[in-house]
Amino acid sequence: MRRMIAGIFRREYRTPEELLERKFSIAEELYENYKEYFEREEDFQRLLSYYEEAINQSNSIMEEIESFRECYICSVEERKGCCKAGLENEMSINIILINKFLNKAIPKEREVSGRCFFVGHRGCKVFARPYLCREFFCRRLLEKFQEKDYIRLTQAIAHELTLLYQACEYIKRNLEYLLGEFIIELDIAGYS
Ligand code: SF4
Ligand code: SF4
Repeated sequence: MRRMIAGIFRREYRTPEELLERKFSIAEELYENYKEYFEREEDFQRLLSYYEEAINQSNSIMEEIESFRECYICSVEERKGCCKAGLENEMSINIILINKFLNKAIPKEREVSGRCFFVGHRGCKVFARPYLCREFFCRRLLEKFQEKDYIRLTQAIAHELTLLYQACEYIKRNLEYLLGEFIIELDIAGYS
C-alpha cells in the first residue's frame, strides 16, 4: 500500500484523468480496508458531522447572497469562471475519502470538456471540495457582496476549511498508525 500511495508522484501520466483515477483507486482500497475502523471512531464521526454541517452552512450563505448564481453566470453564460481544466488535481486522496465517509458520490467521468473534471453544466458536482475551491473570492464577487456578507461568508468558509484540515489530519494520523509509515501523499494535490 505504501508503494501504491507514493506511486502517485511518478509524473508520467498520459492523460489528465490518469492521476485522478490512481487517486480514486487508492482511496477505494483504503476505504474498503479501513472503513469499519473509521466508522467505530466516535471522535472522527463527530468531526465529520461538524464538517458536513459547516459545508451546508457555507452553501446556504452562498445561496442567500447569490454567489452561486454569480459564478453560474460567469462560468456558463459568459464562459469565463474558475473551474478550469487541471483544477481536478486539487482533489486529494484524503478529500476523496472524506466524500466516501460522508456517502457523497464523486463523478467518475468528465462532463464538460476543457473544464475541471468535476464540473457539470450547473456547477461543481462534489460535496466536500478541495481547499482552493472554497477560497475562490475574486474581484467580481468582492464588488458584488456587501462587506457584512463578505465577512459572514469568509468566517463560515474558514470554519469549514479548519474542520476539513482536522478531518484530513485525523485520517492521515490514523492510517500512519495502521500502516506503520508516514503518508504525506494523502494530502498533496500532485499535479502531473
Ligand atoms: S469566483 Fe469569480 S471568477 Fe470564479 S466563477 Fe465565480 S464569479 Fe467567476
Ligand atoms: S469547485 Fe469543483 S468543479 Fe470547480 S475546480 Fe473545484 S472541484 Fe473542480
